[in-house]
Amino acid sequence: MSAAIALTGLSKHYGEVRAVDGLDLEIADGEFFSMLGPSGSGKTTVLRLVAGFEQPTAGVIELAGEDVTRRPAHKRDVNTVFQDYAIFPHLSVRQNVEYGLRVKKVPKAERRERAEEALATVRLEGYGDRRPHQLSGGQRQRVALARALVNRPRVLLLDEPLGALDLQLRKQMQLELKQIQREVGITFVFVTHDQEEALTMSDRIAVFRDGRIEQLATPRELYEQPASAFVAGFVGTSNLIEGDAAEKLVGEAGTFVIRPERLRLAAEDAAPGDGETAAAGVVREVVYLGASTHTVVELDAGPTLTASHPNTETADAALERRGTRVAVVWRREQLASLAGTDAGPPTDSQGALGLPEMEE
Ligand code: ADP
Ligand code: MG
Repeated sequence: MSAAIALTGLSKHYGEVRAVDGLDLEIADGEFFSMLGPSGSGKTTVLRLVAGFEQPTAGVIELAGEDVTRRPAHKRDVNTVFQDYAIFPHLSVRQNVEYGLRVKKVPKAERRERAEEALATVRLEGYGDRRPHQLSGGQRQRVALARALVNRPRVLLLDEPLGALDLQLRKQMQLELKQIQREVGITFVFVTHDQEEALTMSDRIAVFRDGRIEQLATPRELYEQPASAFVAGFVGTSNLIEGDAAEKLVGEAGTFVIRPERLRLAAEDAAPGDGETAAAGVVREVVYLGASTHTVVELDAGPTLTASHPNTETADAALERRGTRVAVVWRREQLASLAGTDAGPPTDSQGALGLPEMEE
């Protein structure tokens, strides 16, 4: 079976700006696919090209095996949901959802039925007669989703659809969107700059940087085996060991990454166990995060590593560690070796303390 979406050599240049730069990508039928990357990395432009709102500078776009590169937007079997969900304020919820079918001259009875079905899918049964101003932000976003689903597209493009919602609602909607996608079986292409969101929802993730894909992998692979320092820093907290420190601590040249939850803190003079490495250093910061605590340790060998611990007991003791000397202990096999090490850390993802990304 052909891919739901196939992009070949796709580019979109605006003067000097290479918004999308020679992209090759295949998205499978029924996949929940995410495009993750910092602001300006080209994610929205890719969606607009697939939807047909923009013409590419070069390259081919195929939907279900058909070349649609020159086909106008309304003749492509895709629908788009944006962050600023454009629902009509003067129409009822039902009229909003029916709108696309009305334009296509679908008879009234069928329109009704399909609108009710779409509202049920987004858990808004019984809301048909309401007006948009009577809905919460989350409910309005569901209406926008129902409006797209009612057309039964093969592909749904979602551009940061949860960006306007507060954190709690956003987390709830992440799980629901994933469930809805499973139920309807439509291919979802989901754009976000939020790594946690991408990890939560996706079958596969493409990490974007400067109009290109830096890595394409499953959430687990991205986290466990980042292909570059850029990806390691953008997806999760990056703890890098490189240069002289790599020679000293790992015993070989290269760049290595280790995740905070794989690091253990021990007394400074603790002897490492079998297959373990212990590196001494000073605790520079202890950050209480509710469910976990992050301890930032500047190693004598150079790098600063963040260790994370679940707060299964009260964290008072950990908070008192600031300024003290400790050892950071890890198992050799928990280091991932980075292939591409040319990349600097990303500019707009994690703070120096490796705090989880905050709402904008
Ligand atoms: P993202 O969605 O990842 O934040 P975009 O696809 O919106 O990124 O933008 C990618 C790059 O293309 C940015 O540098 C942006 O400024 C530029 N760009 C996007 N649309 C236009 C446009 N219509 N004209 C000129 N430059 C644009
Ligand atoms: Mg965008």
